[in-house]
Amino acid sequence: MTHRKDKAEADITTHNKNPYDIVKDLLKDSVTELGLNENIYHILKKPNRVLEVSLPVRMDNGRIRNFTGYRSQHLDIIGPTKGGIRFHPNVNLDEVKALSIWMSLKSAILDLPLGGGKGGVIVDPNELSEKEIEELSRTYIRKITPIIGPQKDIPAPDVNTSPEIMGWMIDEYDQLRGYNIPGMLTGKPIIIGGSEGRLEATGRGVVLTIREAAKVLGMDLSSSTAALQGFGNVGSMAAKFLHQLGVKVVAVTDAKGGVYDKEGLDVPDLLQFVQDGYSVSEYTKADPLTNEDLFGLPVDIFIPAAIENQITKNTAPAIQAKIVAEAANGPTTPAGDEILEEKNIFVIPDILCNAGGVTVSYFEWVQNEMNYYWKAEEVNQKLEERMVFGFQNVLKIREERGIRMRNAAYTVGIKHIAQALVARGWIKDADMR
Ligand code: NAD
Repeated sequence: MTHRKDKAEADITTHNKNPYDIVKDLLKDSVTELGLNENIYHILKKPNRVLEVSLPVRMDNGRIRNFTGYRSQHLDIIGPTKGGIRFHPNVNLDEVKALSIWMSLKSAILDLPLGGGKGGVIVDPNELSEKEIEELSRTYIRKITPIIGPQKDIPAPDVNTSPEIMGWMIDEYDQLRGYNIPGMLTGKPIIIGGSEGRLEATGRGVVLTIREAAKVLGMDLSSSTAALQGFGNVGSMAAKFLHQLGVKVVAVTDAKGGVYDKEGLDVPDLLQFVQDGYSVSEYTKADPLTNEDLFGLPVDIFIPAAIENQITKNTAPAIQAKIVAEAANGPTTPAGDEILEEKNIFVIPDILCNAGGVTVSYFEWVQNEMNYYWKAEEVNQKLEERMVFGFQNVLKIREERGIRMRNAAYTVGIKHIAQALVARGWIKDADMR
């Protein structure tokens, strides 16, 4: 394992450590931990293919703005690569690479026949009109068309990309190809081949892992409290399902701020409020709360569901929760992670916790390929089976090896991929020892 002191110091100097460096460190630690040959690390540490594209878009005022986009395809030895597209001002190549590696590991942990991919565009969508966002979405798909497709690489939604945007993207792809290819992308509106349950899938999966973790800790969820950072697709759905399980959701925030009610927020009312186009910070039926104060609340479950690098050396000391469920990708820095471990907090790592999204995306793709569609109950039941399977496998390795959940999740994922590397003759059986 990397030395604690190094990690802590890295966090002091570089408050937001590069996610690609973080994932490479974790891969290396886990390959060592497993006693595998380091050849496996050298294969896994770099995405198979990355593409940078220029995206000139005519803005409403007639001027051209040229955006930058990326697509990273990590490894396609188990199946086509798959992963979301992010629209965010902080998107950069290293972030996209890291996210594509995490996607490979998620699919491996849940035994999905897929590899990892990820895409992103450097843009603040709040500055664009709807027409400009549509044009940007269509331009991005045109530019990455040569490397995507239902048997190659299958995009999906991520931060700031909705089913509506997926609809524009698939329309552009189909127009280029000349026919309807629904399996080219997931997270679509249901009417054009989306899956029942996809919109709720990531949040539902997060809550399933929390339910399993509560069993391990002997926690009664119906008398537990939760706080969430981020109230977009993942955060809002996680809040909805926690509320349905009887968990008191006392605080939520978004990028503009948040709200707190120690008696429990009226989650259905808040969901409707946000669906009507408001920020949670504008909700007046609860006390205002800042993103900084969210971390120190006395809750049982803390759920980062926004962006990377939120649980850090600075914020982790305040966390009082028994469970941290990483609904976001990469929400915890290495130094933040060390603090959570010292505090004996049960961490459900991102590559397990939020894998419900890729799981139902996989189901969507399967349904598209056979052109036959399942009812919501069937999708949800299959999702539950996969999430519990993944959680139990990771838990087993944690207990057998006496390591933490994050390292156990990497171990399960890497071992699965390593078996495929052996089967394809990339590495020798001996390297597995
Ligand atoms: P989203 O765009 O729907 O929502 C993001 C939310 O985070 C919004 O409420 C936004 O206001 C909030 N936010 C952004 N910056 C913030 C900040 N600095 N402080 C507090 N809140 C902030 O995105 P999403 O799809 O819900 O994704 C959230 C996270 O979950 C991301 O890390 C994403 O990669 C991960 N994830 C998403 C999916 C999926 O299916 N959408 C699947 C797996 C993982």
